[in-house]
Amino acid sequence: MKKVLILEDEASIRSFVVINLRRSGYDPIEAATGAEALRMMEQNPDIRVALLDIMLPDIDGFEVCRQIRATNSKIGIIMLTARTQEMDKVTGLMTGADDYVTKPFSPAELTARIDALYRRVGGDEAAPSDEIVQGPFHLNFRNRTLEKNGERVRLTQVEYAIIKLFMDNPGRALSREDILNAVWGRDYFGELKIVDVNIRRLRIKIEDDPTNPTYITTVWGYGYKWGF
Ligand code: CA
Repeated sequence: MKKVLILEDEASIRSFVVINLRRSGYDPIEAATGAEALRMMEQNPDIRVALLDIMLPDIDGFEVCRQIRATNSKIGIIMLTARTQEMDKVTGLMTGADDYVTKPFSPAELTARIDALYRRVGGDEAAPSDEIVQGPFHLNFRNRTLEKNGERVRLTQVEYAIIKLFMDNPGRALSREDILNAVWGRDYFGELKIVDVNIRRLRIKIEDDPTNPTYITTVWGYGYKWGF
């Protein structure tokens, strides 16, 4: 999972960012204070991008940036600046930030910046936003292909869309309505049974033992869950 540190003391902004990043396939690590952010960095050395708010209850975001940079030159750092603090941009870049986003920002803007930075710091890796790797599965968005343990699994477009939805929401119970709306669209006039039929086919294709599924599990009376 692509870990992103989110340092923001305002809980509402932080959860807004977290929800949107999760939706984009990131694994957000939250911190509400500078000290907590530095602790999270130590505990999660695989964090590749950090989002740092500037005005914090303890040390300011610039100081956090400086301290992260002192030991980590590879991580991508984005400062969250307020519109009124024009100077923050200069100061942020001077202390080692790679980019800045001005509040209020749209989820699309923020995700685009993080994607771009992730690609840059990812360096030798394949463009991370083109694929999701979870357990034995490797989903490639560009080719719309799925591999299990390196072996191609042939999927219909609908099956691909279901797997993509699952992999975007690992560990989360999705109702059959959620799946129907996301894959077939809200205007689709059909029965929920079509979801079950496709899940059954998918299980035959991807489960080690389709009669005892472990990747796509049933949430009784509700829907399905993707996990390991
Ligand atoms: Ca703040």
